[in-house]
Amino acid sequence: MVRVRFAPSPTGYVHVGSLRTALYCYLYARHHGGVNILRIEDTDRTRYVEGAVENIIRTMEWAGIEFDEGPFTGGACGPYVQSERTEIYRAHANQLIANNDAYVCFCTSERLDTVRKQQQASGTPPMYDRHCRNLSKEEVATRIASGEPHVVRLRIPIGEVVRFHDLIRGDIEFDSKTIDDQVLLKSDGFPTYHLANIVDDHMMEITHVIRGEEWLSSTPKHVLLYRAFGWEPPKFAHLPLLLNADRSKLSKRQGDVAVEDYREKGYLPHALINFVALLGWNPSATEEIFTIHDLIRDFDLERVNKGGAVFNREKLDWMNAEYMRKMSPHELLPLVRPLLEKRNFVVSDEYAERVIAVMQERVHTLWDFVDFASYFYAAPTFADVDEKYKSKHWTEEAKSRLGELLPKLDASETWNHDALEAIIREYAEANAVSAGKLIHPLRLAVTGRGMGPGLFELLSVIGKEECLRRIRHALQHLT
Ligand code: GLU
Repeated sequence: MVRVRFAPSPTGYVHVGSLRTALYCYLYARHHGGVNILRIEDTDRTRYVEGAVENIIRTMEWAGIEFDEGPFTGGACGPYVQSERTEIYRAHANQLIANNDAYVCFCTSERLDTVRKQQQASGTPPMYDRHCRNLSKEEVATRIASGEPHVVRLRIPIGEVVRFHDLIRGDIEFDSKTIDDQVLLKSDGFPTYHLANIVDDHMMEITHVIRGEEWLSSTPKHVLLYRAFGWEPPKFAHLPLLLNADRSKLSKRQGDVAVEDYREKGYLPHALINFVALLGWNPSATEEIFTIHDLIRDFDLERVNKGGAVFNREKLDWMNAEYMRKMSPHELLPLVRPLLEKRNFVVSDEYAERVIAVMQERVHTLWDFVDFASYFYAAPTFADVDEKYKSKHWTEEAKSRLGELLPKLDASETWNHDALEAIIREYAEANAVSAGKLIHPLRLAVTGRGMGPGLFELLSVIGKEECLRRIRHALQHLT
């Protein structure tokens, strides 16, 4: 039975890279009829952020990633929050000490600093110098009894090559001389990530560890820990890094990295999930749109690349647009409605659905239904008018033509696309001007913008009274 876990640390927001890890775990579990587990790795109290656990859970729910075991969900291997398991880790650390696979270290942070500085100065890699590795049992016991602060370190074997297999990267080896005598238990009695992670992976019967490439260098330590405990290690799969367009590591500086930001900015969870699924996984099909069911059916770790995956924002925008186009205005309304409320735009559902229908082909995010379409909900203020467009189209000639057109529009009994088009064409022909000479100034007067959906369509949605009012107002006030 496949058992995988997503093991985030509650340090604030959910990185898109973590979303991908969570998604791949979920897909792998579902594809194999296995179990997907959520485990909160909160043993680093200095990095803990209030509310971060709730945020992880909310974000996963929004993204549609389900867990079979975890905090709140429960399960036979709980608790699933590491800070509630500290006794377990302490007992395991003691077992390692008893077997001589770990040792107690009393070095102060001042001493460690001095050692590090000396190593830096001499150009050697910064590693613990193993000062306490061979203290006698008696000395250790006396110093602990006297209350001296201490940590527990893993005794890395000397002169060994540590080997393991990675499902994505193949066979990997690390020379043990490059591996630090890792702290397993800190002086505050809390475990480090390494100890807690492998104890839990074992106790929670994890079969596949799927995580980001940044954890690859920790894996040899984990392999040694499994051996020390006499446990069978799980299978490992390290996912490729996410990169910016310039192939640097995806960073906050170059754009949004928090899933919450994408949610706020009006991306649909299905679109983001589809996009994130393709960051590193190469489906055999050329098709790029995958529902979650398609992903579960097709996902496979063998088709995950080793090389970094570029996070291409334009592609995400394209994908989001594709998803929004496929939805009906009625389905989009509940997603757009809260955004309208945020901007204090008050319109009926029926009206909002008509706006959504005319905007649907030209939006990339949910916000575009609101901010690119603000003139549907309120008359333009012209505060941000495109001056170039205005000086080109809002000429004296244009104004006098609009003045002549106004009574004809007013006289029209029907107010729909075809009727409006007929009025404009008729006027244009009778006066031997191109229709563009009327369309541009009309658009400007009614929307305050130079771009948007087809003019006749938008006029018919906004309605006769309001359009006429706006045209009159612009003729009087817009200079
Ligand atoms: N707590 C680690 C993280 O925040 C988990 C790494 C792992 O999956 O082993 O990503």
